[in-house]
Amino acid sequence: MNFTDFLGNQAAVRRLRETLAAGRLPSAMILSGPRGAGKYTLALLLAQAANCLTPITTDGLPDACGVCANCERIVASFALDERFAEAVAAREEMRDVDKKDTRILIQTHPDVMIIPPDPPQLLIKLGQVRTVIARIYRRPAQAARAFYIFTASSFMKEAANSLLKVLEEPPEHATLILLSENPSELLPTIRSRAGVLRLGALPAAEIDALLAARRPELKAIERTLVGRLAEGAVGRALGFDLPEYLAYRQDALIVLHTSLAEPDYSVLFRMTESYRAGAEGAIKTSGMLHALSLLLEDLLLIHSGVPALVRNTDLVKELTRIAHGVTPQWIEAASRGLDQVEAGMRRNLLRSLSLDAFATSLPVR
Ligand SMILES: [Zn+2]
Repeated sequence: MNFTDFLGNQAAVRRLRETLAAGRLPSAMILSGPRGAGKYTLALLLAQAANCLTPITTDGLPDACGVCANCERIVASFALDERFAEAVAAREEMRDVDKKDTRILIQTHPDVMIIPPDPPQLLIKLGQVRTVIARIYRRPAQAARAFYIFTASSFMKEAANSLLKVLEEPPEHATLILLSENPSELLPTIRSRAGVLRLGALPAAEIDALLAARRPELKAIERTLVGRLAEGAVGRALGFDLPEYLAYRQDALIVLHTSLAEPDYSVLFRMTESYRAGAEGAIKTSGMLHALSLLLEDLLLIHSGVPALVRNTDLVKELTRIAHGVTPQWIEAASRGLDQVEAGMRRNLLRSLSLDAFATSLPVR
């Protein structure tokens, strides 16, 4: 894979490549954009192109060959989920005393280090930043330029402060890349020391054309729906599991109708029966709650007079009907109730219980 395979955001990609070609890569940059926009892919493509041993030219700019010794090892990091799972599994197998001091890092090339949020809290931790500090001032062994890629911007406080020290005195031979869905959660002092490159959502027509080419099994109406639900993010659109989402949404609609109608709770109880505790139940529940929150957002959009922004594009008629039967205050109260269910889930309440409580405790219209 090289830059020519990167989908969308061509202007931003070009700017980044020109910076690389001019030898002006910053010591720190924030790559921001929605989930699935390709932030991680772009960061790795940059590391690859900067270190390729036999670079090629594409679109008039330097690009990676994809097969030299440096490229090959960096390519192994593209499968982030797999590498992450391997690192976590390796730590699980350690003795407890070692486990405590082991931080999750991914390194398939000695000079390209990937720093993902460390589980279970899924935050970047001090130990991870310390490891970066211990390495970053050493010259890269096999790369022209070392890369340190933080895959999220959720830092523990001490970790962020520690990172700030690196940004105050960055080495010349390395680039630190912070991937962020929400740069405002970074310390202002970190933001001010790093250039920001933004990857935006793709226009609906571009996503639609992409889906038509890559996912021919989808009908036109389904492409529109997927494009809207993926919020214009390429990665999410291409990997979007539509049948799964529709199943969650079906349940979410039951919750919605139950809380609206003269409630016949038997339907709801049958549905929540299938939402049991445990990992699988947790995934199902959060999938359903997410679908429900999208439905509530759509109801608000209809109320606000902007039905064109509704994300469940195939349900506009039904949602309009529901919206006319409720007030915006009701929708907002329902959204708050949903937040409480999610908070309750995080505290590990019995899930089916808090779901039933949600639907039966909604305000009367
Ligand atoms: Zn190469």
